[in-house]
Amino acid sequence: LSERLSGVFERLTRQGALSEDDVRTALREVRVALLEADVSLPVARDFVNRVQEQATGQAVTKSVTPGQQVVKIVHDALIDVLKGEGDPGKLKIDNPPAPILMVGLQGSGKTTTTAKLAKRLTERDGKRVLMASLDTNRPAAMEQLAILGTQIGIDTLPIVKGEDPVAIARRARTQASLGGYDVYMLDTAGRLHIDEELIRQAAAVRDVANPRETLLVVDGLTGQDAVNVATEFDAKIGVTGVVLTRMDGDGRGGAALSMRAVTGKPIRFVGLGEKMDAIETFEPERIAGRILGMGDIVALVEKAQETIEAEQAEKMMKRMMKGQFNMNDLSMQLEQMLKMGGMQGMLGMMPGMGKMAKQVEDAGFDDRVLRQQIALIRSMTKRERANPQILQASRKKRIAAGAGMEVSDLNRLLKMHRQMGDMMKKMGKMGKGKMLKQAMK
Ligand code: GDP
Ligand code: MG
Repeated sequence: LSERLSGVFERLTRQGALSEDDVRTALREVRVALLEADVSLPVARDFVNRVQEQATGQAVTKSVTPGQQVVKIVHDALIDVLKGEGDPGKLKIDNPPAPILMVGLQGSGKTTTTAKLAKRLTERDGKRVLMASLDTNRPAAMEQLAILGTQIGIDTLPIVKGEDPVAIARRARTQASLGGYDVYMLDTAGRLHIDEELIRQAAAVRDVANPRETLLVVDGLTGQDAVNVATEFDAKIGVTGVVLTRMDGDGRGGAALSMRAVTGKPIRFVGLGEKMDAIETFEPERIAGRILGMGDIVALVEKAQETIEAEQAEKMMKRMMKGQFNMNDLSMQLEQMLKMGGMQGMLGMMPGMGKMAKQVEDAGFDDRVLRQQIALIRSMTKRERANPQILQASRKKRIAAGAGMEVSDLNRLLKMHRQMGDMMKKMGKMGKGKMLKQAMK
């Protein structure tokens, strides 16, 4: 996938300007590339449509090639799809003993992941964890968990021959309560394919254990199939999250993308090897970078955008200090303020403006007002923005009406602009420009 995408974007990055047609052509190839990486058809289609919309609406950023900009948009959209709500690494384990049910196909990495997570919960969260193998299909599987437990110093439920999974789950709960464990993990049996027996057994265990978390373990190397597995398990058992294993190999993050898009279930952890420490909290940025195989370009674009913003801010500062502070500057300033947590947040960051921040707060100056002011400025012509002093009654009326506001609102804005301009000029004369610039960084 990455090679293919690199090819597409390489071609784009070499072109000077990017037309809407270019975006469409590029995204058509992105779609094919996604499909080749086993992203399911509807997911790839939705994804591409989404990016097309975003890319088309966006102004071309200067000093970044259009191709790079598309990369950034594709990358951000990927992260958007991959990202779940909340912290993926935080398991619901209050009210001890909390049961965690591990499900998935045979060989997906359930037993390994059970031990890895138990170790993590013990070391990071100081939890006491008990592990129990419910894999009665393969006696060796129960042994496997016991051996891992000894290796990492985590208790396992003693093996009793001839017990069925439901009975083991009950015994695990009793043992966890009596033994004062915070968490008990139930490692279930898997099969090569989803079948009725597998689901029936998992459902029976679920009903007994009433798990706080049901984690579906999926081999990250499987493509399309991962989606079917996830959909099926979620429909029949109900899962609270997914663990993607074998992401240390050259797995195609494609499975992650479509599983996430289709089931809406959060990906919680990523398995990165056979060792007991080889597990990490899922980071959408990393998988996105991997799917695209071009994290460097994305970083480069981000850097460029930062630079552009910094340059603009610096230019504006210089003009302001000279008393050339027009409506374009104010508008930019206001939008910056919105980004930086509103007027109060912004003024609070400037030295000596704490008092003004307070006044602004008392005046009920919130983000809504900022947006209204930006709307007023947008409603001005280019000339008016550059020379706000030419605004007389009729122009004012037109501008206010255009923004759906009153002339009095506009007058307030103009007054604020004048005051800010005066203040900036004063500060420029006092030589405090440096200090202010510092504060704005
Ligand atoms: P189960 O049948 O679902 O319980 O799967 P196992 O936990 O027994 O794992 C099957 C094989 O996959 C074992 O050899 C594990 O060491 C290996 N394995 C599990 N997780 C990972 C991983 O994240 N990366 C790699 N490279 N191997 C893994
Ligand atoms: Mg197993």
